[in-house]
Order: sequence, then C-alpha cells, then structure tokens
Amino acid sequence: RRALFAALKNEAPVTRDGHRVTVMVNAGLRDDVAALDVTGADGIGLFRTEFQFLVSATLPARERQQRLYRDVLEAAGDRPVIFRTVDIGGDKALPYLNKLDDGEEENPAMGWRALRLALERDGLMKVQARALLEAAAGRTLSVMFPMVSEPWEFDEAKALFEAQRQVLLDRGKKLPNDVRYGTMLEVPALAEELDRLLPRIDFLSVGTNDLTQFLFAADRANPKLAERYDWLSPAILRFLRRLVAPAKGANVPLAVCGEMGGRPLEAMALIGLGVDRLSITPAAVGPIKAMVRSLDRRAIVAEMERLLADPPRDMRGALTAWAQEQGV
Ligand code: PEP
Ligand code: MG
Repeated sequence: RRALFAALKNEAPVTRDGHRVTVMVNAGLRDDVAALDVTGADGIGLFRTEFQFLVSATLPARERQQRLYRDVLEAAGDRPVIFRTVDIGGDKALPYLNKLDDGEEENPAMGWRALRLALERDGLMKVQARALLEAAAGRTLSVMFPMVSEPWEFDEAKALFEAQRQVLLDRGKKLPNDVRYGTMLEVPALAEELDRLLPRIDFLSVGTNDLTQFLFAADRANPKLAERYDWLSPAILRFLRRLVAPAKGANVPLAVCGEMGGRPLEAMALIGLGVDRLSITPAAVGPIKAMVRSLDRRAIVAEMERLLADPPRDMRGALTAWAQEQGV
C-alpha cells in the first residue's frame, strides 16, 4: 500500500466525476516542508508557527523567525503557505514567557491563549508580523489567526499587521506583493457570526480538533474521552455543513485543517458536505488521494444529505458500509 500511495505523488486528487479536491499539508518545522515534494501536496494549509517557539530554549528573535519563514516560502516555491500566528499559552506554555503569565489556569484550553494573549501582550505579535512581512517580500503572504471567537478579534489582529506593514513601508523595506488574512474557525461562537465574519476575511480554515472539544465540552487531550465523541457524529457534520454555503456565497475558500481531514472516511464525509479543501498530516496525503480518486462526488453528496436528514445511531458504520458498497 505504501508503494501505491507513493505512486500517487504526481496524481491529482480528482474524484471519479471530475471534481478537484485541494489537498494541503500541516507543518510546523523546517524539515516538514520536505513533505510537499514527497507527497505532491498542493501547499501548506496550516503552518503552526508556535512549534519554533516550543522547541526553543529562549524566545526566538525576529531574525530567527524570519529565516524560518523565508526558508519555508522558498521551499514551497509557487505553492501557497498559510502561516498561523502563534497559538501559545494555556497548555502550550513557554517556560521563558512565564513572567507574562498571571498564574496557573484551571482550564488552559479555554484559557488565555493564542490570539487572546497576543492581542493583550502585543509585543510578541508585532515582532512576528514584521518577521512574516519581511520574509514574504516580493511574494504573497497568507496569515491566519488562531482561536478567534468574535469578528472584532480578527479586525484587531489584522490592524496590528497592517500597522507593521506601514512601519516597514516607511522604512523603505521590501514588502509582500499581497497580504491575505484569514482565520481559524475552532470556537463555535464564531460560526454564529459567520455573516459578519465572511466579508472581512480572505479565507477560513476549520480547526476540528479544538472545535470538537468545544462543541462537545470534551477535553481533546483526555484519553477517557478519545473514543466517545466521534468526528462523524451528526452534531459535528451538521455544524460543518452550515458553513459551506455561506462561505461559497461570499467567495471565501473554506478548508478543514484538523486531524479529521486526514482520515479517509471522515474526509469522504467532508467532501459529501461540500468541503473541497483539506490540510492534513503529510502521512495522510497518499491515503486521502487514493480515497478521493475512487469517490463519486455526486453520490457522496446525496448520501450525506440522506444520512443527515435522519441520522442513524451509528453514522460511522453507515458510512463504512456505503464506502464498501461503492468501492471507495
Ligand atoms: C485545530 O484545533 O483543529 C487545529 C488545526 O489547530 P491545533 O491542532 O494546532 O490546535
Ligand atoms: Mg486549534
């Protein structure tokens, strides 16, 4: 099977009825970028910039950040890269940032993390903004913000980047040709404001890892709950389905970048909901391409509509049986 997946490297993820699915990879370290060539993926849909911070003994200086971002962009060539600003704080605590911390949190996943921290102590994000803007000189820069819960948080984060862009411009620095701003959707509240969010953003990426834990109030790191809340549950699938038509209507590309998209059955269901962009762990690219190439999109769209109208208790079982019947 491994040989089969490797052989798919140069084959596009197109369904049997001719629908092209965009398959990108999630990355975070310099070496991850090699996965683009190994897998033949369409780009990096999620570059987790906090990895550099987590593996460093001290706060990475702007030059070091900039060097990493430039290396990543260079290795990606023409393929798009979406840089997510640091998602730290809470359980991804940095020892050298302790002085910023106001103490232990009882619920770090729902705590003072990611953009919440970055907007209040904005020195860190200003430095990162400059590093990203300078690294992407002469190219397109795509920036994505984590843990946005309300549209104003996106506005503030974007304004911070635009202010840094102006500072660099005033100093005569070379800048990106274009800067595109997007957000993760991983806090359910944001979905309730989709109509207000969509006109503001250039792209949207659903983080189903956090979204699931918040939707079900179930800690994603607790092994006791790992089997309990299925990504194929009607609640999650119906939640995701609601996002698709508004995003299409607003012409905002919608991707799923949580681990869910890297599992063939889940990815099949996502395609059935109308999601056609996935950003997944590199090892999953081969299996996902193989699934896509064996799938009839119209058939899974109809099947998802049927199943979600009156969901069976065992959605996973129903989809497994359907896939077998269809030879997916
Ligand atoms: C997510 O929450 O689904 C996601 C992709 O981000 P992370 O796993 O880094 O929290
Ligand atoms: Mg997340």
